[in-house]
Amino acid sequence: MNEIQSLRGTVDILPPQSSLWNEVERKVREHFERYGYENIRTPIIEQSELFMRSIGEDTDIVEKEMYTFSDRKGRSVTLRPEGTACVVRAALQHELLGQKIRKFYYMGPMFRYERPQAGRQRQFHQLGVEMFGTYSPLADAETISMMVRLFEMLGLKGVSVNINTLGDKESLEKYRGVLRERARANFDKFCPDCQRRLERNVLRLLDCKVPSCQEIFKNDLPSIKDCLSDEAKLHYETVLKTLDDMGISYVEKPQLVRGLDYYTHTIFEVTHNSLGSQDALGGGGRYNDLVESMGGSPTGAVGFAIGEERLMIALAAIKKAEESVPATDLFMVSMDEEAIEENLVLSDALRTLGVSVAVLPEKASVKSQFRQANASMSPYVLIRGGDERAKGVWNLKDMKNSTQREVTKEEALAFFKEKIK
Ligand code: AMP
Repeated sequence: MNEIQSLRGTVDILPPQSSLWNEVERKVREHFERYGYENIRTPIIEQSELFMRSIGEDTDIVEKEMYTFSDRKGRSVTLRPEGTACVVRAALQHELLGQKIRKFYYMGPMFRYERPQAGRQRQFHQLGVEMFGTYSPLADAETISMMVRLFEMLGLKGVSVNINTLGDKESLEKYRGVLRERARANFDKFCPDCQRRLERNVLRLLDCKVPSCQEIFKNDLPSIKDCLSDEAKLHYETVLKTLDDMGISYVEKPQLVRGLDYYTHTIFEVTHNSLGSQDALGGGGRYNDLVESMGGSPTGAVGFAIGEERLMIALAAIKKAEESVPATDLFMVSMDEEAIEENLVLSDALRTLGVSVAVLPEKASVKSQFRQANASMSPYVLIRGGDERAKGVWNLKDMKNSTQREVTKEEALAFFKEKIK
């Protein structure tokens, strides 16, 4: 075994799973683009302050999970733990937000120093979207429906949508008051983190991962609905009604708060029963105050992020990956050493046409080459040896019906050009 191993909580994505990842990412890209989203790629490393200000200083992510360190000039930098803050930073820096609605999607690695377990890693990947420039509840419904339809498009059955609202500032302040009062009465039962956060950021008590803390409010949670302003109530009701009209089922979950500070109004999470205790496939919500708090103009916004590893688990990654090993259009067999170079030269011309070709650059037994040709699932094999050289041809074998015929270089190029059309 190698002395140097990958870091705990990081994972190499190897073939054949990597081809399933590529396939899923391709479909996801197409899906997001159908809804008018444009790709954005932000750096993996950012100033630490970005996340402290946006995600919130009392959250688990910022307090315990960030990969934060000083660079060589002593500046505090952080490997991004999520994408929203980065997209907001980029959108403000490059003045992408204005009068019209802007929609961005991203995919890539995120970093959180968590205890690794099934479905929880320290480097993981997210597929995410952010829509800026609208306060409409219909945008929330569209965002949720886009997520649900994405899973359907990928053939993933059995997802559940949990939904809640945090209302506007006024509603949330009222709710925090009610919650704080209730929490104070149970102060001794909470873990030290919750006790510390109670006065500073009481909402975080609802997403504490300590089981005994979760028990406290389990059957006795004050309802946010009692605290909602008329406007916030109407917003939420409109989201639910639109989902009903779209035929999207959901479960209202009053205890859902999500672990980041920037949410307002609608929040949601999608779970899948194949995922065990880490059952959240993805989540998101509206964040109307974030852009302004980061120095921009008031801008309504809504988005979500999906965990790619969990998506792959839910899609029963391994089994499907084996099925989806991409077949090359053609495998080239070299019967003698001279043929290796001749095949390489022809493969170069074929690939320029867009044909995918497998060819070995070194000597191997003919038997082994045919074994690999079969495994590659290529529908055609081109064979070159002494006999073919003497005639100036290749033998083209159709693997499906086992027929074989001789073709010149030009005929081979014309044949495959036609095939891949
Ligand atoms: P969040 O940004 O916390 O709302 O996470 C969104 C989604 O990312 C979750 O629902 C998970 O699917 C995924 N996720 C978050 N943290 C991890 C992690 N440590 N390992 C794997 N996936 C994660």
